[in-house]
Parts: sequence; structure tokens; C-alpha cells
Amino acid sequence: MSVADASIRHVTQPSRAFPICTADVVCPHCGVFSAFEGPAAGNYAVVLCLRCDKGIMIESDNLRLGTGQKLVDYYPKKSPTVDPFVPKDIAEDYLEAQRCFLVGAWHGCAVMARRCMHSVAEHFTAAGKDLYEQIEDLKQKQIITPVLSEQAQHVRVLGKHGAHPYDTRHNELKDLGIDDAQSALEFCEYIFDQVFIQPEKIKASKTRLASPQN
Ligand SMILES: [Zn+2]
Repeated sequence: MSVADASIRHVTQPSRAFPICTADVVCPHCGVFSAFEGPAAGNYAVVLCLRCDKGIMIESDNLRLGTGQKLVDYYPKKSPTVDPFVPKDIAEDYLEAQRCFLVGAWHGCAVMARRCMHSVAEHFTAAGKDLYEQIEDLKQKQIITPVLSEQAQHVRVLGKHGAHPYDTRHNELKDLGIDDAQSALEFCEYIFDQVFIQPEKIKASKTRLASPQN
């Protein structure tokens, strides 16, 4: 792919040393939370994944020398994917959550992740007057583990922050950033894995074992 209104003039060894930026990002190429390293210029750095050696561009408000600068965004991101064992309506919501993430819509991403949790609760006909109670019900029925229920509750809270600038007592809710949106997506993945994907893998393995040997 190339763009018509921009061109690379040439690539040479720099005559001056650029500051080297190191960062930790979920690598869009190998999919692993990995260390990255590469030269910084202005608010941007082009860094390589130390696991798969592929590059990404990261953006910060102020890439000055030192540690602890906030990562504002990075490119490219992982393309939206969902396991085929996730039921279609939930899968569509999850793909939309990922599309929000891709365009930096952190609040939209969290709201869609919360919608996924609600759909999971409905899928298992969880009892309760609200999503909090439904998630607790899924834990009671051992459909999800205590750790997963905590993650599901956290996605519920992130979604609330995504949807509302104030809570019911009119306290201002904190704005969400890239890390919050990333957590919302990750927690959805863990929950899908336990409730939809692993049961199918167990079933498939048992079927293989039961089928006659060739
Ligand atoms: Zn990588």
C-alpha cells in the first residue's frame, strides 16, 4: 500500500544520534505484551518489538528524556478478530469494541465491552436486577471463576465511566485512556475463553478420543 501525496526521499544512517525510546505495548504483529525500542523524534518514536522485530509508531504528548511519559497512541493496531466459538451477537459487539479501540475511542470501547458482558450474562440467563447482580449470579453458578467475575465487574465499571461523565450522586467520573480500553478488551477475551472457547475445546478433544482409530 502507498499514498499518492507523500513520498520517502531516502533512508540514511543519521549524522546525529536520536534519543532512544523504550516502551511496553501489546504488539499488533505477534500479539504479545512486549518491550519495544527505537529512535524518537518530536512526539513520535518508531520502535521495534524485541520479540518479533517488527515496527510500530508510538505517539506521546512529550517524548522528553527520562521515564514515565504517557503513551497517547500507537500504530498499527491489531486487526479486530474474535474466536468463531463466541456467539454471533456477542462477537459483533466485541468487534465493534475493537474498532472503537483502533480509532482511539476509549470511552466507546469500554461501553461496547460492557455491552459484551451484559450479553454474556443474558446468554447464560443470569438472574439479577442489574448487571452487577447478574455477574455475581454467574459466579454463584460457577459459570465464571471469582477472578473472572472480578474482571467482568471491572469491565462493567469501565463501561459506566465510558457512558457517563457523572455518577448517580453527581460525582465526576474519571476519563478513560488507552490502558483502560486495553484492559476492557483483555478481560472480555479471558471471559470468552472460559465460557465459550474452552468448553468447545474440551468437547473436541473428547470426541477425538472417542472416535475409532484408523
Ligand atoms: Zn511483536
